[in-house]
Amino acid sequence: MTPVTIRASSLGKLFDCPASWAATYLYGKQMPSNGKALLGKAVHASTAVFDQSRIDGVGLTIDESAAAAVDMIRRPDEEVTWGEDKASDAERIALSLHTKYCQMIAPQQTYRAVEVKFEGLEISDLGLIFTGTTDRIRETAEGLSICDLKTGKAAVGSDGKVKTAGHAYQIGVYELLAERAGGIPITAPAQLIGMNTAKTSDSQRIGMGEISGARALLLGDSESPGILEYAAKIIHKGMFWGNPKSMMCHERYCVAFSTCKFRQ
Ligand code: SF4
Repeated sequence: MTPVTIRASSLGKLFDCPASWAATYLYGKQMPSNGKALLGKAVHASTAVFDQSRIDGVGLTIDESAAAAVDMIRRPDEEVTWGEDKASDAERIALSLHTKYCQMIAPQQTYRAVEVKFEGLEISDLGLIFTGTTDRIRETAEGLSICDLKTGKAAVGSDGKVKTAGHAYQIGVYELLAERAGGIPITAPAQLIGMNTAKTSDSQRIGMGEISGARALLLGDSESPGILEYAAKIIHKGMFWGNPKSMMCHERYCVAFSTCKFRQ
């Protein structure tokens, strides 16, 4: 069995629409990025600069670190199709979220590391190799924990709660990578920091949520198989069916959209 490499961030997509996952990650089809994805990248970039500077004791200000968000939007490192979105709106929203994060979230956190890249954890009996970059490793009273930043229109609900559903697979892979590939013991529940990318500042809610038991979900137990076993079966048996009801079934988000037979 030839091992197949899976990015942590793509595992959710494998179960959402295997055909779209295969087109992107197995057959290497590419499409331009979009304004929403670039906005997320911009906020990730600037908050990472801010947090790293705090760890290093450099002490960049909120405004100084915000330059990374502006750079990402004005000089993206990939092709971007803006569609109905505008770069000027994305820049304004990114700067607002960056400021809120630095003022409201960062002071509550004790980070051990920022943007930690893990190079390959092979699970040989499943024929899978996992890679990924976790946003943060943080210190808590219960030990070290994975922390991931999520941006999106519904990242935080109107009740102020962060939407954690659907993120456990990715978080579980980060926990496995940190422990087994990085030698970092992860003993505290994972944390999600959600940031709403609404156009008005009032609706740009920001908050924190927790995910527990992500690793157990991936690995399973003596009574039921884990998610990774299902993933291995889909991939190694080549069962790449399409899901036209996926939220990502759109020409802007799916590389296979123009040729996909499952949409008919
Ligand atoms: S077009 Fe829709 S059903 Fe087809 S691969 Fe893409 S997301 Fe899946």
